[in-house]
Amino acid sequence: MSDQHTHQNFETRAIHAGNTADPLTGAVVPPIYQVSTYKQDGVGGLRGGYEYSRSANPTRTALEENLAALEGGRRGLAFASGLAAEDCLLRTLLAPGDHVVIPNDAYGGTFRLFAKVVERWGVDFSVANTSDIESVRGAVNDRTKLIWVETPSNPLLGITDIEAVAGVARQAGVKLVVDNTFASPYLQQPLALGADVVVHSLTKYMGGHSDVVGGALVTADEALGEELAYHQNAMGAVAGPFDSWIVLRGIKTLAVRMDRHSENAAKIVEMLTQHPKVTQVLYPGLPEHPGHEVAAKQMRSFGGMISFRVQGGEEAAVEVCNRAQLFTLGESLGGVESLIEHPGRMTHASVAGSALEVPADLVRLSVGIENVDDLLADLRQALG
Ligand SMILES: *Cc1c(COP(=O)(O)O)cnc(C)c1O
Repeated sequence: MSDQHTHQNFETRAIHAGNTADPLTGAVVPPIYQVSTYKQDGVGGLRGGYEYSRSANPTRTALEENLAALEGGRRGLAFASGLAAEDCLLRTLLAPGDHVVIPNDAYGGTFRLFAKVVERWGVDFSVANTSDIESVRGAVNDRTKLIWVETPSNPLLGITDIEAVAGVARQAGVKLVVDNTFASPYLQQPLALGADVVVHSLTKYMGGHSDVVGGALVTADEALGEELAYHQNAMGAVAGPFDSWIVLRGIKTLAVRMDRHSENAAKIVEMLTQHPKVTQVLYPGLPEHPGHEVAAKQMRSFGGMISFRVQGGEEAAVEVCNRAQLFTLGESLGGVESLIEHPGRMTHASVAGSALEVPADLVRLSVGIENVDDLLADLRQALG
């Protein structure tokens, strides 16, 4: 991160890091540099270091500097999607014969990338319960190159102690990667807890308005950041100028949005835990959640994602999703508008039959920032 921002508080960094006034016009937000190539002043005479927009683009640079500042990292890199970021990371760090440890509760697309793509290239993986430090330790072998953690996890809201897993990773000499999509850097700072790389789907809370797909990597270390930047350019799945710009715009309100997401979620959890049709509520803010203490230690608040199980099995869960009106039935999460979905048939259909299969009676909510009374009324009528 540029040293200019290290002393600033999160909300200030979110608005100012990377957002220097345009040198040409003084525009207070970085313009959308919708351009592929740059005029050179004589052969090799680059103005500001830009030569071709796959390698670097000023709007993307602004976002990348902002991302590094928000995660407290040395280097931020923006990609066309979260999975493009993950793919670049895995193909930079891994080679045939290597082994990775992945969580038993991960984003379905992450699992698919490991199981259907990366494994074909000769990298194998073990599935661990990353909430249990002994399970992580037991899954590491002498070919392990990285441990992957997602916390809170999707869709079961499991919590992993980042600092504890970082200790295991350090001892084994392997890298720790944390998918920080559910928490966002406002709620949780994995690099400060010992992670080597943070992964984001910018599509979710960072963009925050369900209007863009993007991904990011942020590294604690300059050398790994350089290596990933080399591969980002060599592989090419970069974030475009407009996508970078709209994510940068979304991030300015990240802190206030996350506060409201968390507040609304807490009130909805309170209602759900008392509802006769709800058999279990999965939310790290609940004292009975097995990860509650760790979450309270490593997160500022507990976020806007809730999962719950309903009486009556799969059909009843599907019915709740279908009856919701203000909660929009749809995949994805992290936008200002509330969403509801059935993981078993929607986001997590690709993990059916695997170690990552989710309960059929599970409903997942992405609680938005609407008035919470309207959200509560909609859920009550959907539960019937
Ligand atoms: C959505 C998501 C991803 C993948 O990101 P895309 O932008 O959809 O490619 C990865 N991890 C988590 C936790 C996600 O929610």
